[in-house]
Amino acid sequence: TSRAVVAEKVVESVCPFCGVGCQTEISVKDNRIIKVDGRDGPANRNRLCVKGRFGFDYVLSPERLTRPLVRREDAPKRADASMTFADIPSVFREATWEEALERAAKGFTRILETRGSPALCGFGSAKGTNEEAYLFQKLIRQGFGTNNVDHCTRLCHASSVAALIEGVGSGAVSAPFTAVEDADCIIIIGARPAQNHPVAATFFKAAAKRGAKLIVMDPRRQGLMRYATHPVVFTPGRDVALLNAMLNVIITEDLVDRQYVQANVDGYEALAAKVMEFTPEAMAEVCGVPAETIRDIARAYATAERSIIFWGMGISQHVHGTDNSRALIALSLITGQVGRDGTGLHPLRGQNNVQGASDAGLIPMLYPDYKSVEDPDVRAHYEDAWGRALDPVTGLTVVEIMDAVEAGRINGMYVMGENPAMSDPDQNHARSALARLDHLVVQDIFLTETAWFADVILPASAQAEKWGTTTNTNRQVQMNRAAIAPPGEARQDWELIVALANGIGLDWRYGGVDEVYAEMASHMHSLDNITWERIDREHAVTYPSAGPDLPGADIIFREAFPTPTGRARLVPTDLVPPDEMPDADYPLVLTTGRLLEHWHTGAMTRRSAALDAQEPEAIVAMHPRDIGEGGLTPGQKVRVETRRGAITLTLRADRDVTPGMIFIPFCFNEAAANFLTNPKLDPFGKIPEFKYCAARLGPAA
Ligand code: SF4
Repeated sequence: TSRAVVAEKVVESVCPFCGVGCQTEISVKDNRIIKVDGRDGPANRNRLCVKGRFGFDYVLSPERLTRPLVRREDAPKRADASMTFADIPSVFREATWEEALERAAKGFTRILETRGSPALCGFGSAKGTNEEAYLFQKLIRQGFGTNNVDHCTRLCHASSVAALIEGVGSGAVSAPFTAVEDADCIIIIGARPAQNHPVAATFFKAAAKRGAKLIVMDPRRQGLMRYATHPVVFTPGRDVALLNAMLNVIITEDLVDRQYVQANVDGYEALAAKVMEFTPEAMAEVCGVPAETIRDIARAYATAERSIIFWGMGISQHVHGTDNSRALIALSLITGQVGRDGTGLHPLRGQNNVQGASDAGLIPMLYPDYKSVEDPDVRAHYEDAWGRALDPVTGLTVVEIMDAVEAGRINGMYVMGENPAMSDPDQNHARSALARLDHLVVQDIFLTETAWFADVILPASAQAEKWGTTTNTNRQVQMNRAAIAPPGEARQDWELIVALANGIGLDWRYGGVDEVYAEMASHMHSLDNITWERIDREHAVTYPSAGPDLPGADIIFREAFPTPTGRARLVPTDLVPPDEMPDADYPLVLTTGRLLEHWHTGAMTRRSAALDAQEPEAIVAMHPRDIGEGGLTPGQKVRVETRRGAITLTLRADRDVTPGMIFIPFCFNEAAANFLTNPKLDPFGKIPEFKYCAARLGPAA
């Protein structure tokens, strides 16, 4: 007899991990996922990576939260790697939904009445749906009365979005990554798509095989460089030196598309004057790239008929992250490499719904569709819609909120699906702040490191257990469909937000998540002509869409930019060094990032047996030459220390890591990389410098 398990049903949904947004077919039997296959979505065309195909078993983990929990009165607030599921009874007790929701709401009401709106805040999630993001920011703004609402975009592409809105009037990508099929030259900088956007990487590799020029620029080597016509390893933190030198070449060699600039772009003269000092010869030593290579890649990009730029956290997570993006935007604008097939600007979005959560207003300075909270007309619109006066001042960002908590100015926090006790920089500071909160409500599917600090924990749903829309890196709004029921008493996230809103005195009534979508879309012109029914019927619709029957626009900025003048704006950049340079005490450069097998803080993938078996251990990667010179041995335990903390990990030899650098993935809670990282912020995007700080490494005691 056959031992194959036969599915009872197959549900069409979307991968929960990265911003590529691969469409999936989830096979189900006995309310359990038995396999996941790819289907023919616009971003994946039947492909899936290891996470999408094999990482689904986190949903079935015995560590799923199945009943509400409340903190025992005598339990101290702390979280460390030694705490396990077995510790739950000594820290929390189970509660009914009625008790948990009442306690959650009363805690917020008490702070609201005694300390006022500025003492409250919320962290939403880029892993939730658009509808959840919309409801969450609405609750914080309408119910808490503050704009202190943010999410992990602050830790990934906030600086890119700041530069894009300033330069071209829109924070979203101008072209999907599939546009590489029409491109003659592709720049990928500060991104490692083979690890972090693996299905997108297959399109990049195919384009290179077809003959497109592929310029891969990164401070660490990577496998994708084997496909590159121009692999460029540069000095970490010196992006602006390299990019301004490329701009210098394009301007001095008259490779500028003057007609395009004249018709569409402001600020050219100031940019040209600024980059004159950034000659390739002067910058070669600064950025570690020979002058002739800088000339080669500048010419390749500028003279190709169609060129496109992709970037990731290596660009954005710096104190000069906004400047890095400004320089990339300048490259595309002065060469007219935007607004046509095969051209464009594409910050590769990390989380599955970081684009949608940002679009839906889960950010402290902007309502849905990137409308300023300080614009009186916009505020009047929402005051009219929501029936109460709204906070006229920009709220605090993720790291600023933690500082305010530590200073005692914020006392209550609602966290939905985020894990600041792993994701924020300088964890000693972040965890000390979480421990100070008078009232913390965490809504999640697992007892995350953050949940250990909570007063009330609300068990929620995994993506495979709920309906809702998410928006991928390509601006494709896609339908996620529930394949299985949540475990135990766990409930839908959107229903929990509504319950909390009503618990603090609002009167929210939604008949279903589709009604939430309809309300959200009524406030967002970007979703004009994109109804819930249409997304369900077509599975994915790209925004903007000019008509209910017209396909969405893959390429934007064809005619003009969505700025008040219709023109784009160049912003010259200076060379700003990393905040913390190596010195005699801390001689190494520490950079952090992700692994192919693990997703962000590891809350999901560390609980996937299939994925954790591939990368089960906290590691620090170092070049073999540095290992040898340090008298160390791969596989031994080492201690890595910065001015903020120290952790112990296993040493891994890795030739991709440049001598003088070390790399630590931030997914391992037993040795959380963010105990080490620098919280210093980019002044525009307010993003911390995760990609660079000074460190030292030695044998563990
Ligand atoms: Fe999921 Fe991203 Fe992998 Fe696609 S590339 S299967 S969206 S993790």
